Amino acid sequence: VTSPAGPNGTPAAVDAAFDEMVDTRRALHAHPELGFEEHVTTTLIRDRLGALGLTERPVATPTGGAFVLEGGRPGRTVVLRADIDALAVHEQVDVGFRSTVDGHMHACGHDAHTAVLLGAARVLTARAEELPGRYLFVFQPGEESLMGARTMVEGGLLEGLEGARVIGHHVASTLPVGLVGVRGGITMSEVHSLRITLRGAGGHGAMPTGSGDVVRAIARLVDDLGGVVAGLGYEGTDCVCTAGRLRAGSAPNVIPDHAVLEGTLRTFTADQRTEALGRLRALCDTLAADQGVTVELELPGHAPAVVNDPGLSALVAAAARARVGHERVLAMPPVAPSDDVSEFLDRLPGCYFFVGGGHPDGSSGVHHAPTFAIDEEALRVACAVTVDGALAMAAPGPGPAPGAG
Ligand SMILES: [Zn+2]
Ligand SMILES: [Zn+2]
Repeated sequence: VTSPAGPNGTPAAVDAAFDEMVDTRRALHAHPELGFEEHVTTTLIRDRLGALGLTERPVATPTGGAFVLEGGRPGRTVVLRADIDALAVHEQVDVGFRSTVDGHMHACGHDAHTAVLLGAARVLTARAEELPGRYLFVFQPGEESLMGARTMVEGGLLEGLEGARVIGHHVASTLPVGLVGVRGGITMSEVHSLRITLRGAGGHGAMPTGSGDVVRAIARLVDDLGGVVAGLGYEGTDCVCTAGRLRAGSAPNVIPDHAVLEGTLRTFTADQRTEALGRLRALCDTLAADQGVTVELELPGHAPAVVNDPGLSALVAAAARARVGHERVLAMPPVAPSDDVSEFLDRLPGCYFFVGGGHPDGSSGVHHAPTFAIDEEALRVACAVTVDGALAMAAPGPGPAPGAG
C-alpha cells in the first residue's frame, strides 16, 4: 500500500486511523493512571509501537517511553511529544467509557493526546520509506506534577538531537471542536508552585494572645496573595497567584502551631517572575512581622513558560489551515495555564498548539473539572495537524530558520 507523502495523503490516512484512535482514547479514559504510575498506559503504548516496528529508546522515567521511526529520505529530526498522565479527580461524566478508578480521571485530555500520537505514529510509519528525516515519539509521564518532562530531559532524552524540532498539542475543552489555536512566542505561563509554612506558639482557642495565631495569619495571606501579581500581565493576559490548598488545625478550640498554604504563581516573562517573587517574599516578611509568626516560603515545583518558535509555528498554522480552513485557525493570546512541554521547547525550537475539543452544545466542562469532556472529532484534527506539521518540520533544505517569521 502506498500513499503520497505530504499533506495530500494525510486526510485519508488519518480518517482510516480515526476509529482506532477513538477506541484507544476510550480505553485509556476508562483506566486513568496518575503521574509516574502510568504502567498499563505504557504497556499499551509499547505494544502498539512495537507492533509497528519502531525502536524504543531508554528513558529516565519509570513510565512513558520514546520510540524512533526512521524516514527513508534525508531530513531533520522531529520530536513528537504527548503527555499521558491522569488526575486525582472523580469523574462525573456519564459515558460508557467513564473512569473505572474511583477518584482518578483523565480530566485534562492526556488520554486524547496519547491516542493521537499513537495514531500519528501509525500514519507516518505506513509511509516511512517516503518520509524525510526521523521521528522521535515521546510519551511523557507526570505532566501534572511538572516532574515528567524535566526528569526525561535531564536524563538525557534529547542528547544528540541538536537541530531537532518539537511538535505537540493540547486539546482545549474551552475551544469549540473544529478550531485550532497556534501562537508564536510566549504561549503559556511560567509556573512556580508555592508552599508557605506558618509557625506560631499555638494555644487555647479561648485564650488568644493576639499574636502568633497561624490561622488568622493564613487567612490574611490568602487575601493578600493576589497583590503579588497586581498590574502584571502579558499581551492582555493577567499573571496569577492563587491558593489551592490550606492545612491548619486539629480541633475547633485549639489554635494550632503551624499552618500550610499551597498555591501557584503564573507569570510570562523573566521580569515578571523577578517582580512577583520579590513581592511574595516581601509579603511573607510583612506577614511574619504583623502577625507574630514565622513564615517559610518554598517553591517546590517549576516549569518555564511555553515559548513557540515563530517560524515553526507558521508551518503548523499552515498545516492546520489546510485541514480545518483559514478562518478556523486562531492566533491566540497567551494563556495562564502552564505545561511542562516547555522543558523540551526550552532546548529545541518547536510549536505547541491547541486543538478545539469543546462540544458544540457547550456541555464540555473545563480542564481538571469532574465534568471535563471532549468532542472526539478533536482527535482527527489533532492527528492531521501533528502529521503534516511534523512533515513540514522534518523537510530538508533551508525552510524557515528557527526564530524567523
Ligand atoms: Zn492539566
Ligand atoms: Zn494537560
